[in-house]
Amino acid sequence: MAGCIKCGKGEYKKLDVMCHLCIKVINDEAKSVKPKLYMAEKAYHILGNISRDKGFICRIFKETPEYFVGNWEEGYGFINVVFPKETTHEIEIPTGAVIIKTRNSVYRFGKSDNEGKRNISRYKKPLSFSLCKIEQLIVGYPMMLNYFHEEFEWVTSSIKSIEEIS
Ligand SMILES: [Zn+2]
Repeated sequence: MAGCIKCGKGEYKKLDVMCHLCIKVINDEAKSVKPKLYMAEKAYHILGNISRDKGFICRIFKETPEYFVGNWEEGYGFINVVFPKETTHEIEIPTGAVIIKTRNSVYRFGKSDNEGKRNISRYKKPLSFSLCKIEQLIVGYPMMLNYFHEEFEWVTSSIKSIEEIS
């Protein structure tokens, strides 16, 4: 019999579970972060292991040094799910030039520098800024940009396609 993957206590018939106490402690200790989408695999909830085989999208609200806390975007209604950082990854953003079509607009981005900064232009509807960093880029979701002018973020309509160009 194996116990909790974190504290080792408890007797569980299934491997790869986390006990209620550890889940509660992680939830209590976790600090709020700006909500962000990640790809995750392992996921633990007080009702058990709700991991998924391949990377699925989760929405993260809180974190500790080792764990994220949030929920799967689709399929489960569970909240306060614990995602080990080891198996939870940022969603990759292409570093080369890209054309992004959203429901309402077409954007062109230049190559990004080491910090993710890149040029941006919008087809037919000029923007008031020309330099930005893409914070979130997932087909079917709004694109989120940091454009450095203020603390504000630019959030577009949902993404229809991402095309890498050379
Ligand atoms: Zn435990």
